[in-house]
Amino acid sequence: MPELPEVEVVRRGLAQWVAGHTIADTQVLHPRAVRRHLAGAGDFAGRLAGRTVFGARRRGKYLWLPLDSGDALLGHLGMSGQLLVQPPGAPDETHLRVRLRFTDGGRELRFVDQRTFGGLAVDPGGAELPAPIRHIARDPVDPEFDESAFAGRLRRRHTGIKRALLDQTLISGVGNIYADEALWHARLHWARPTETITRPVLDRLLGAVRGVLAAALAAGGTSFDALYVNVNGESGYFDRSLAVYGRRDEPCRRCGTPIRRDAFMNRSSYTCPRCQPRPRRAHW
Ligand SMILES: [Zn+2]
Repeated sequence: MPELPEVEVVRRGLAQWVAGHTIADTQVLHPRAVRRHLAGAGDFAGRLAGRTVFGARRRGKYLWLPLDSGDALLGHLGMSGQLLVQPPGAPDETHLRVRLRFTDGGRELRFVDQRTFGGLAVDPGGAELPAPIRHIARDPVDPEFDESAFAGRLRRRHTGIKRALLDQTLISGVGNIYADEALWHARLHWARPTETITRPVLDRLLGAVRGVLAAALAAGGTSFDALYVNVNGESGYFDRSLAVYGRRDEPCRRCGTPIRRDAFMNRSSYTCPRCQPRPRRAHW
């Protein structure tokens, strides 16, 4: 599953290559890729024909292209979806699902998805913010992220801090890996009750979240080939820079204590038992 930094890299690629271009025609090569567009593939293509893309926007891990009709072309990348910007003569990808050609005859936008969990849809009137993602909260690198509102909602939630970080209606864009990394940097245990988190502690945590996202974005940005918009590959950040995630029994990079792995929501949580002691009261 791509995380926020990878999706932001794709958004920048789309802003560079697709914004300002007018869609000539759309080919849907697999109906499953537009299943979220309930009116069907014909309606999907019809709403795109002749429309100019005027930007590339993101809310959490969701991307959309606002169109001059006031509609939005919304992308769900799912587990394996890729948005590629390819020269018209480039051979079709094995799992090419949707192709958009532009009136200038230049690069095509291709949606490629091996497992077809992702897809594209046109959301009528959704250029500003598509309806299917209105419940998704802003992410902490969004300039309009409201820290005071987040602090208040967090205190009222009565849950563990990591569950809160993964709740897309509270804060978006923080996946399992980045949550563990940020909690380690902020020296907070994942089961710490949200109602015990004071504003200074929250500020420390948000600083840590922004730090790991920025570092990952910088790593993803450097590996980004401008001719090839790709979210499938993990950014170089994953191998090089992880402080705690996936490092069970390896020494903490701060104090040398072996890293602990706990089962968490069918996944894992990694902590340093010394830097991130278990809270006396905990929301597991
Ligand atoms: Zn430690």
